[in-house]
Amino acid sequence: MKASIFSLSVWLWLASASLLGCAGAESVVVTTPLPPVSPRVIVITATPSHTPPPPTATPTRVATQTPAPTPTAFITPPAAGETVVIPILMYHHFNPLPAGASELLRTWTVAPEQFATQLDYLQTRGFHTITFKQLVDFFERGAPLPTQPIILTIDDGWIDAYTVAFPELQKRNMVGVFFVPTNYATAGGELLLNWEQAREMSRAGMEFGGHTISHEDLTKISLPEARQQLRASKALMEEKLGQPVLALSYPYGAFDARIVAETQAAGYQAAVILCCGYEQQSDLLLTLPRIRVSYDDTLDDFAKRLP
Ligand SMILES: [Zn+2]
Repeated sequence: MKASIFSLSVWLWLASASLLGCAGAESVVVTTPLPPVSPRVIVITATPSHTPPPPTATPTRVATQTPAPTPTAFITPPAAGETVVIPILMYHHFNPLPAGASELLRTWTVAPEQFATQLDYLQTRGFHTITFKQLVDFFERGAPLPTQPIILTIDDGWIDAYTVAFPELQKRNMVGVFFVPTNYATAGGELLLNWEQAREMSRAGMEFGGHTISHEDLTKISLPEARQQLRASKALMEEKLGQPVLALSYPYGAFDARIVAETQAAGYQAAVILCCGYEQQSDLLLTLPRIRVSYDDTLDDFAKRLP
């Protein structure tokens, strides 16, 4: 295809702008106090464990060169109601940005070399990437996890998830989790990863999760529509990849008690939101907090946000 650089970059800007429009909405949604309907949801705002840790909580840095733990080291699930530290990082775009790129664009993008440096850093610090299947097995069935588990999530299925994130993860024997709206993968093309690429990634050990059919805000459509978005996308992704889809990323991070219940009823066993923190517990598997990584984060910023 001989699309000119100009038209491609215009496309990217348009696509990014549309994504960023939702990203702005995402921030609003998660900062809104949650309705006091479901005990599962109430806990999120009330639990002090979601308060960002004080800066003193991250004493280890690259310079200490902490050796990675032996492969035989595992952690086991906490008692009911207790939290366990499992950071879930959130990425969207992997692109170099032009000087003067907007604040919104910088918020939802990291540069490819920045991502590579962050992955190297995670390995140096002794983190082990896991999938949501492992997380669910850990909480629901007591399956052990490697020490310092971490989940790397990449939302929306842009082509750079395939061209940048996938090879960088593979190079390091790390796994990532890709949340893709099914209409996006069906469209494919220059901007979006397609089903064939998703299958290649899945076969290589990457996990795929639901992100609805068409990236709808589930709290703003009718309940039957939301149900369809959750269920049909899960069924199609499972058919296309030949793997169970057990995790969901709520588009725009938007959810409420009704949507959480629908998500569970649709068969998802874990779901992620946009905000904030790294302490997880078994009764919050459908509203797991994440840590956003952005273009302007230095490696030190990145390090400080990790446990
Ligand atoms: Zn999204």
